[in-house]
Amino acid sequence: MIETVARRLSAVEQRIESACSRSGRSRSAVTLVAVSKTFSASDIEEAIAAGVTDIGENKVQEAESKLASLERVARFHLIGHLQSNKSKLAVSLFDVVQTVDSSKLGRRLNDAAAAEGKQLEVLVQVNVGEEEQKHGVRAADAPALIAELQPFENLEVTGLMTIPPVGGEAETREYFGNLRALRDRIRDDLGLTPFRHLSMGMSADYEIAIEEGATIVRVGSAIFGRRG
Ligand SMILES: *Cc1c(COP(=O)(O)O)cnc(C)c1O
Repeated sequence: MIETVARRLSAVEQRIESACSRSGRSRSAVTLVAVSKTFSASDIEEAIAAGVTDIGENKVQEAESKLASLERVARFHLIGHLQSNKSKLAVSLFDVVQTVDSSKLGRRLNDAAAAEGKQLEVLVQVNVGEEEQKHGVRAADAPALIAELQPFENLEVTGLMTIPPVGGEAETREYFGNLRALRDRIRDDLGLTPFRHLSMGMSADYEIAIEEGATIVRVGSAIFGRRG
C-alpha cells in the first residue's frame, strides 16, 4: 500500500479520536496542526485537500516562499523561534505565532499587527525542561510575561506552547501535566477567559498530550513522512 499524505493523515486522525474518547474529551476540543517544514507547497495542498485546516511552519523565510503559492484556505501557525526583526514578515504570513518568549518580541509583533490592522493570536512558549538549547520562558517567568503582554491591543494571548525534553512516557506526561497546571493557574490568577490553549504533542507523543489536555497538537512526520 502506498503511503500517501491522505492515508497517514487518516491514521493520525483515528489515533486522535481514540485519545479523545479515552480521556472523555470531544474531538472538537483538539486542533491538529500539520507541520510541513521541509515539505513542499504541493504536499501542503495535499494535506489541505485531505481535510487539514491548520498548517505549522518553523521558519519565516521558508514559509514565505511556500505560502506565496498557496490559497489562504488554512490557518498558518509559526511554531519556530522568531527573531524580533522578522516580526513584520511573520505578521503578514501567519495567523498564529506560538513562540512568543519575551515582551520585546511581543511589542514588535503588536506594532506590526497594528500597522496591518490585524489581530494576531499568540501563544507563549515555555521551556518546561529549562534546557539550554531551547527557546521559551521558564515556567516561573511565564505569568509575569503574560501580564506584560496584556496591554498589547493587537495581540490575543490564548495559551501556552511547549516542546518537552526527550524522555520516556512517564516523564513526558509529567511535563505536559505541568504545562496544563501552569495554564490553569495563570488563567485563574489573571482572570483571562480566552486563555485556553495548550499546544503540546508531536508525532511521537501527541496521544499522551491529548490525554493530558492538549488543545493543539503539532504533528509533522506522522503526516508528511520522514524529513530528508
Ligand atoms: C518539527 C516540529 C514539530 C513536528 O515534529 P514531528 O516529530 O515531525 O511531528 C512540532 N513542533 C515543533 C515546534 C517542531 O519544530
